[in-house]
Amino acid sequence: MRRIDNFNAGPSALPRPVLERVREELLDYQGTGMSVMEMSHRSREYEAIHDAAEAKLRKLLHVPDDFRVLFLQGGASLQFSMVPMNFLNTDETALYVLTGSWSEKAAKEAERFGHVIVDDQAKQGGYTDIPAEVKMPQTPVRYVHLTSNNTIYGTQWQALPDIDHPLIVDMSSDILSRPVDFSHIAVAYAGAQKNLGPSGVTVVIARDAFLDSANREVPTMLSYPVHAKQRSLYNTPPTFAIYMMGLVLDWIGENGGVAGMAERNREKANLLYRVIDEYPDLFQGHAKVGARSDMNVTFRLRDEALTAEFLEQAKAREFVGVKGHRSVGGCRVSLYNAVSVESAARFATFMETFARAHR
Ligand code: PMP
Repeated sequence: MRRIDNFNAGPSALPRPVLERVREELLDYQGTGMSVMEMSHRSREYEAIHDAAEAKLRKLLHVPDDFRVLFLQGGASLQFSMVPMNFLNTDETALYVLTGSWSEKAAKEAERFGHVIVDDQAKQGGYTDIPAEVKMPQTPVRYVHLTSNNTIYGTQWQALPDIDHPLIVDMSSDILSRPVDFSHIAVAYAGAQKNLGPSGVTVVIARDAFLDSANREVPTMLSYPVHAKQRSLYNTPPTFAIYMMGLVLDWIGENGGVAGMAERNREKANLLYRVIDEYPDLFQGHAKVGARSDMNVTFRLRDEALTAEFLEQAKAREFVGVKGHRSVGGCRVSLYNAVSVESAARFATFMETFARAHR
């Protein structure tokens, strides 16, 4: 069966063994005579899937015991609203570190609910870098929000900043791609559709003590405490997406866990960055070297015409998803967990061949 080299930014490639397992179990899940899609979310079978997905996520990511794991809907974009709705009162201030379009969207949403101060050092530099240090304001802040990986610009925090304030981290495009230090984290959230599974489920990992401080006056479906109390079963959860996420988590476990993913992701990204660095007259990487993302490699070619030709050839060779985000142009190659080293190597070879022919 034909499987192409898929560098989509999300939804994106899924591990082949996971898709095969889904196919096998599609009509009859483990002798139940039903698909997971057809099961009651209150059934014993589904509850086992649900609980196992949570347990696997906790184990792989070493989530501390005083954190709750929630499976919600509405994408990471709804988290942009839920976070300030639950945690930012009108008289309070939050600091948003702007490192790309998604952090800007998150900050904009928070402005509806309370005061927002932004750290715009990265924005001033055209989003090519990650701030060396977060600029803390004089005013007390309720929390600090940041985006760990910037899907569009291809920059990534190499480590979370060591600041003594509750950190709220959008990990949509690098969750499970590397280990996480939870020491300052109050809430981490991520849409599943890059590293975790299909779209439809959003993972939220929240510290109990921080959850206790949530504003109770929010609509039921937007309240973290409600979902936490009901173990993400207040209403019908996205059962099939959660089932598939569980299978992806199994696959991560069988392939070296999060540390194994991190090593492989670094290897894949380096294959491409090496070509960018070796042919500086042809390729211009968007991110500063110290801020490069292992997930999204962004670059453009010497001029627009050459970029267009490169994209045309990539397409002809059946490399999918190489065109940069419409807001920035150029090229972007997303190398999430399920993209193989072989896929990345094939693309690096293509880049090199193209570079040699256009010197
Ligand atoms: N944050 C980041 C870092 C993202 O990459 C994306 C989606 N590409 C989002 C938020 C928005 O996610 P969703 O589409 O799940 O709302």
